[in-house]
Amino acid sequence: MYLSVILPFYREAANAPAMLAALQKVLDQIPGEKEILAIDDGSPDNTYDVLLSLKPQYKDLHIIRFARNFGKEAALTCGLNRAKGDAVVMLDSDLQHPPEVILEMLEKWKQGDKMVYALRRNRDGDSLLRRAWTKTFYWVFRTITELDLPPGAGDFRLLDKKVVAAVNQLPERNRFMKGLMTWVGFKSSFVTFDVAERTSGKSSFSFSKLFMLAINGLTSFSNVPLRVWSLFGVLISSVATIYAIYLVISTLLFGAKTAGFASVMCGILFMGGIQLISLGVIGEYIGRIFNEVKDRPIYIVAEDD
Ligand code: UDP
Ligand code: MG
Repeated sequence: MYLSVILPFYREAANAPAMLAALQKVLDQIPGEKEILAIDDGSPDNTYDVLLSLKPQYKDLHIIRFARNFGKEAALTCGLNRAKGDAVVMLDSDLQHPPEVILEMLEKWKQGDKMVYALRRNRDGDSLLRRAWTKTFYWVFRTITELDLPPGAGDFRLLDKKVVAAVNQLPERNRFMKGLMTWVGFKSSFVTFDVAERTSGKSSFSFSKLFMLAINGLTSFSNVPLRVWSLFGVLISSVATIYAIYLVISTLLFGAKTAGFASVMCGILFMGGIQLISLGVIGEYIGRIFNEVKDRPIYIVAEDD
């Protein structure tokens, strides 16, 4: 058996030594060939140098450095492109994803599951607001897309090489990995784990970054935001038609009334708002088409050891 482990590193200089040590301890218990793909996602700190200095201690360690920060999804994509394993595991490099879970994942994989994702048992480390947001996101996602994205399943997972090949076939530049990995299908199961506190540094995913990721995910997997406006249009014009008939009849019967400034203003402002929102949504999709059409690479590798 050949096992590949993908580790995305961004500003993790302080965590890298402990992370690799913890991972190696687990890998030592697994027979067969192994590779660790450490991807430095253009960290501005000295993550890359720290990784290089650790290289002599870990014979299976390969270090890839991006030319700039391309984001975690790009780092994972790069890992999947490079991974040679029969089974490929990806986990965060800040020790929030305990490497011991890999052993359980491998058990399930050996029983025939093609994808094993790790479900977080607790979200205590996250703020209340972030938890509420995540919950809302999963609910909206499952409602408006056909994908059954398991709530609580993050990027910590094991993929069989067949799944890896399938994900590698997906050409899109807007990469919402959790979605892509669910989209390809295959027999999946899960293991649970307690997410640990970040040992050092802070999360790179601010509220605005998470929000962008959510928009990215939703627009990548659903046309509902685009289509819902026709429904709104039909509803509003139906109401408007009824109101127009009422206006015509009442004008014919009782003559024109000049009052009505408030209702006219409300109508204009409401319609203006609706039109701007729907235009914005169309713009969002056009932006994505633009991104895809440019056909730029998803990441650029600067150094490859
Ligand atoms: N990460 C990355 N590129 C980025 C941001 C983060 O490769 O632009 C990595 C980071 O090093 C970590 C993982 O993605 O291994 C998860 O990031 P983080 O811990 O900041 O996010 P959270 O745990 O809060 O979701
Ligand atoms: Mg983290």
